[in-house]
Amino acid sequence: MYDLMIIGGGPAGMTAAVYAARKKLSTLLISQDLGGQPNVTAGIENYMGYQFIEGPELMEKFEKQVKQFPVDMKIGQGVSNLSQISQGFEVRIGGDETYEAKTAIVATGKRSRLLNVPGEEKLRGKGITYCAVCDGPLFGGMKVAVIGGGNSALEAAIDMVRIADHTYLISLTPLTGDPILIDKLEKANNLMKFLEHEVLEIEGENFVEGIRIRDLKTRQERELDVGGVFVEIGLIPNSEFVKGVVTLNHLGEIEVNCANETSVPGLFAAGDVTSVPEKQIVIAAGEGAKATLQAYSYLQRLSE
Ligand SMILES: Cc1cc2nc3c(=O)[nH]c(=O)nc-3n(C[C@H](O)[C@H](O)[C@H](O)COP(=O)(O)OP(=O)(O)OC[C@H]3O[C@@H](n4cnc5c(N)ncnc54)[C@H](O)[C@@H]3O)c2cc1C
Repeated sequence: MYDLMIIGGGPAGMTAAVYAARKKLSTLLISQDLGGQPNVTAGIENYMGYQFIEGPELMEKFEKQVKQFPVDMKIGQGVSNLSQISQGFEVRIGGDETYEAKTAIVATGKRSRLLNVPGEEKLRGKGITYCAVCDGPLFGGMKVAVIGGGNSALEAAIDMVRIADHTYLISLTPLTGDPILIDKLEKANNLMKFLEHEVLEIEGENFVEGIRIRDLKTRQERELDVGGVFVEIGLIPNSEFVKGVVTLNHLGEIEVNCANETSVPGLFAAGDVTSVPEKQIVIAAGEGAKATLQAYSYLQRLSE
């Protein structure tokens, strides 16, 4: 039985692993991949120490740092189930493979809700992005489309009217975000809204060249010439496998306190999968560090 099991190998999980190794905890890191969301991030300008770095390159550096230490890793398969056992926790991956540890940290992050339209898979990372805060500056002076009608989409559109030459805001519904954000957008003269419109297709060979939309009322179709598409229709926490074990909030995020404790003693959580506000690499990494330090204190209390 391991001292600590870390589930998730993104910025939160890998940082947690480095802290665990330095505390000499016997540690198992289980993850679908190493890197997480930054693996699909074109450029990062807000991780301290690097003025600009590609997401995958930053994650390679994280991985190298983890691999300096004796951390056992099981990469390539997701955890399908986590349960409490008398001495700690048991996780199941694949069919019958199980692992046990005295304490665990869940750091499984989030995944973007996809549009699920033709062209999306092919052009992901080639003009289609799922994080305007992060990638917006890369589209300076271009025409772009922001998809969504909630707060994330409105915030993305507010950023993009400053950065891009022209911004289209396309929403399936009337705008549902905060009125103060809607007011801010009213002042922009380089924004055009297409409300109650659906996206039919994102077009382009090697990079986004346009988007095809349809008016839900009139059924009229229209092509917009854009070089960037910001999909801001929400993120889904990867917390399905702990549903019923720990308390989740209304968004499906794992509720944690400022010590990264969940509703289950000995089970900690860190990063985007949690209720901590603001989802960024530097925050996830910091939360991963905190979670391990708290798990370490928990183990010390157990052995007393
Ligand atoms: C396109 C994009 C651009 C971004 N740009 C920036 C930026 O410029 N700056 C910034 O600070 N932030 C940016 N972010 C946000 C940032 O990437 C996240 O806040 C950060 O990655 C969260 O780290 P995490 O470790 O909590 O989760 P994640 O990065 O989501 O990692 C989760 C890990 O858990 C694994 N996993 C998931 N489910 C399971 C399971 N069931 N079993 C085992 N493993 C599992 C995944 O494979 C992954 O390795 C961006 C996000 C996106 C999507």
